[in-house]
Amino acid sequence: MTIDTLIIGAGAAGLMAAVWAGRTAPHQRLVVLDGARKLGAKILVAGGGRCNVTHHTVQASDYAGSTQPAIRNILRRFDVPQTIQFFRELGVELKQEETGKLFPTTDNARTVLDALLTAARQAGADIRHPYRVSQVERLPSGEFKVGGEWGSLTTRRLILATGGRSLPKSGSDGMGYRFATALGHSLTPHIFPALVPLTLPPNHFLCALSGLASPATLTVQSGTGKNLAQFTNAVLCTHFGLSGPGVLDISRHWIEAHTADSRTRLLINWLPQYTSESLEAVFLAATRSTPFQMVRDWLPERLARALCETADLPPHLPANQLPRAQRKALVQQLTAYPLPLVGHRGYTHAEVTAGGVPLSELHLKTLESRLCPDLYLCGEICDVDGRIGGFNFQWAWAEWFCGGGGKGRGRMTKRRMTNLSPLYPYSLALPFSLLLALFHLVAHGRERATYQQHHPHHHPAKIGDKLANDFPLASKRIAKAAVENQPQ
Ligand SMILES: Cc1cc2nc3c(=O)[nH]c(=O)nc-3n(C[C@H](O)[C@H](O)[C@H](O)COP(=O)(O)OP(=O)(O)OC[C@H]3O[C@@H](n4cnc5c(N)ncnc54)[C@H](O)[C@@H]3O)c2cc1C
Repeated sequence: MTIDTLIIGAGAAGLMAAVWAGRTAPHQRLVVLDGARKLGAKILVAGGGRCNVTHHTVQASDYAGSTQPAIRNILRRFDVPQTIQFFRELGVELKQEETGKLFPTTDNARTVLDALLTAARQAGADIRHPYRVSQVERLPSGEFKVGGEWGSLTTRRLILATGGRSLPKSGSDGMGYRFATALGHSLTPHIFPALVPLTLPPNHFLCALSGLASPATLTVQSGTGKNLAQFTNAVLCTHFGLSGPGVLDISRHWIEAHTADSRTRLLINWLPQYTSESLEAVFLAATRSTPFQMVRDWLPERLARALCETADLPPHLPANQLPRAQRKALVQQLTAYPLPLVGHRGYTHAEVTAGGVPLSELHLKTLESRLCPDLYLCGEICDVDGRIGGFNFQWAWAEWFCGGGGKGRGRMTKRRMTNLSPLYPYSLALPFSLLLALFHLVAHGRERATYQQHHPHHHPAKIGDKLANDFPLASKRIAKAAVENQPQ
């Protein structure tokens, strides 16, 4: 039996696509296959088990990969208020934290996963797992054959929601890229871990500060000295190097630029409130305090001590009396220290994957492939990755219309989103009117016969007018047409 819509992947993007595909065409055969023994691993681990569902403001500039206009085009289809409303309707209330991140009020990612699974099943999705797909091919008939150790299925429409390569033990190991290329798609030249911790040489002094966190500004600087990307957020020292939101956010920019040019540097400013110039001016004005006494006021003591010791300062000299070269070296150490990175922690520790199928190969209104009709792609498999804070899930939710869920509907309004359910009243309006008209004809056939008997010169159209007047719910045209089609 041929399936109407088959989705590979029951992660955030696949479940969202299932909900809307099922709601928009309720009677289709809709199957979701996932290779994982336990569904929704990434939703469950997200946000430290609380699931950071979205962010209070989401813009294209919060994402990298593809092009900003293409990303904006998709994001505006389903904005944050619509995400909040969607989850509210599923029974999941979201709360906003000071950082702008939104979490379920239960502080439990399970609430989000269960709600999505229930909504997908209620929309008619048959979710099967563990059903790992190892082969996808297009048949001469135009249908797709999807197979694995469990057997095979044929489907008219195929949605690839297989994610990227991050956290491979969750089931997302990049197999989807193979399916996409087998069906004619290309991939970006580089696919690499993003939102990933970065590593330092094992004996680096920052590794010895494991567990210490401090806000800092991180800047990716090209070999020619151009600033390519910058983030200010908490940086966490670990036994292998650096992590924390600031490092995770900058990681994809450093990896991308460093792969292209090994002279690329990542500079850290431990005192984001100062530039090199303003900090030097502060030191020059300090006649009593030693640099360490000053830095200790701004940074955690262990970090302040480590930074000053590495700069090899004379212990009791006030800051304004430091020799020029030492003052400059200290200022650089504090505000523009080039981190001697040796790599990153790889897909096992990455939250997302950068690169993938270019958005230019998809119709942005439907996410249907431009190269392979009836194939759709959504979620992390596409060449888009967001920063820390709920942006990656928002990307998955925003692609609700994948698989034709929003075909021809343009931007979804709140009312449309709320009403788009199997009981969507407008979809019932026409058949209801027709039924009503039929009922009128049958129920009032006798009355009409009597009427004609007593008014033999009246034209049948007038009878239609009378019926329509008597029964305003049945449109005048339907009633009239029905009467005209009656054998005279
Ligand atoms: C530790 C961690 C924490 C995170 N926290 C957050 C957060 O708080 N907020 C946020 O916005 N983002 C967060 N993310 C990122 C977010 O989880 C992902 O961007 C998002 O889950 C991507 O959704 P997706 O549906 O595209 O892919 P995935 O969630 O990866 O889902 C893909 C699904 O496809 C299935 N699959 C893959 N290949 C096959 C195959 N061959 N056959 C059958 N099934 C297959 C997989 O089993 C998987 O279930 C986090 C990620 C990680 C790893």
